[in-house]
Amino acid sequence: MRHESAIRQAVPRPLVDGFGRTATYLRLSVTDRCDLRCTYCMSENMTFLPRREILDLEEFHRLSRIFMARGVRKIRITGGEPLVRKNIMSLFAMLGADLNRGMLDELTLTTNGTLLDRHAEALFAHGVRRVNVSLDTLDPERYQTITRWGRIERVFAGIEAAQAAGLRVKINAVAMRGAFEREVDELIRFAHERGMDLTLIEEMPLGEGQHDRRESFLSLSKLRDMLSKRWTLEPLAVSSGGPARYVRVAETGGLLGFITPLSCDFCATCNRLRVSATGDLFTCMGNEGRVGLRDALRAGDDDRPVAALISRAVAMKPEGHAFSITNDHVEGIGRTMSVLGG
Ligand code: SAM
Ligand code: SF4
Repeated sequence: MRHESAIRQAVPRPLVDGFGRTATYLRLSVTDRCDLRCTYCMSENMTFLPRREILDLEEFHRLSRIFMARGVRKIRITGGEPLVRKNIMSLFAMLGADLNRGMLDELTLTTNGTLLDRHAEALFAHGVRRVNVSLDTLDPERYQTITRWGRIERVFAGIEAAQAAGLRVKINAVAMRGAFEREVDELIRFAHERGMDLTLIEEMPLGEGQHDRRESFLSLSKLRDMLSKRWTLEPLAVSSGGPARYVRVAETGGLLGFITPLSCDFCATCNRLRVSATGDLFTCMGNEGRVGLRDALRAGDDDRPVAALISRAVAMKPEGHAFSITNDHVEGIGRTMSVLGG
C-alpha cells in the first residue's frame, strides 16, 4: 500500500481542465515595465507596479518548479519587456539548469528586441534556442510612431546578434489597418530572406484608452485573402500545436503564421497558463478571471497550498475568450497585454 501511494506521488498529476485540455505550457510575465510604449499595448503615461508587489526571480523559479511538477514542459519568459528586468539572466540560468536536468523541454523568450544584442549569447548558453521578436514595420519613422520612441536599429542589432549566437528567431507583427497592409510584403521578404518565420497577430482589445480599435483592427482572414492574390500560400498539413495557423509562402520557402483570436477560435486546443509579474495565475488571456498565488508562495516553504490553488484555477479554466470587435462594438478586457505578455 505504502509503495503504491509513493508511486502515485512520484507520477505528476497533469493539469487537466474541465474541458479535457491539459496545460503543459507556462508563460511568465516577469515585469510590467517596458522601454517602449506600443500604441496598441500601453498608454504613454503608465504607472508601473511597486517593486514589492512583483515576484522576485527566485519566487518565479520556485513557482516554475511547482508547475513543472504538475506536467508543464515548456516555459516562455515575457513581459512587459523581460530584458529590462534587472538580473533576468539569473532566472534563465535557473530554468536552463532545469532544462539540462530534463525537467523542461523548452525555454523561450518573447522580446521587443531592443536589448537582445546584449543578452543573445547568455540566452543561448542557458539553453534558449528560439526567441520571438516583435517588429511591426521596417520603416524607422513608423516604428517610432508605433512604439512612441523606439529606435529600429536596436531591433535589427538584436536580431543579428541572436542569429549570430545560434538562436532561431521568429518575427511577430501586429496587423493594423492602413500602412501595415502595404508593408506586409516587405516584412515577409525581410523575415524569410533571413531564415525567420513571420507570425501576424490580430489586434486584441486588451487595455483601455489606447486608441479606437475599430479603426485599427484588421481581420487576418481579410489580409490572408489579400496576400493570396500576391503570394502562393500553401497550407501546412501539420499544425504547430499553438494558436498560429501556418502556411508556406512558395516564392520564399518561409513560413507565415496567422494568429486570429477574433476571427477564428483557437481556444479548443489551448494548453497555456499565464502568470503575471505579481504572481496572478490567468488560465485564459481573454477573460478577467485570475487566482493570486503570491500570498500562498510567501506564506512559507510549503508548496502544497500553491499547488492546490493552481489545481483549482485550472479546473475552472473557461472554455474560450470573452472579447470581440465588430463594426460598432468593442468587447474588451481592462488589463493591457503587457500584464501577461501575449
Ligand atoms: N515586450 C515584449 C514584446 O513586445 O515582444 C513582450 C511582451 S508583448 C505584450 C508580447 C506581444 O504582444 C508582442 O508581440 C506585442 O506586439 C503583442 N501585443 C501587445 N498588445 C497587443 C494587442 N492589443 N493585440 C495583439 N497583440 C498585442
Ligand atoms: Fe512594450 Fe511589448 Fe507592449 Fe510594446 S508590445 S509596449 S514592447 S510590452
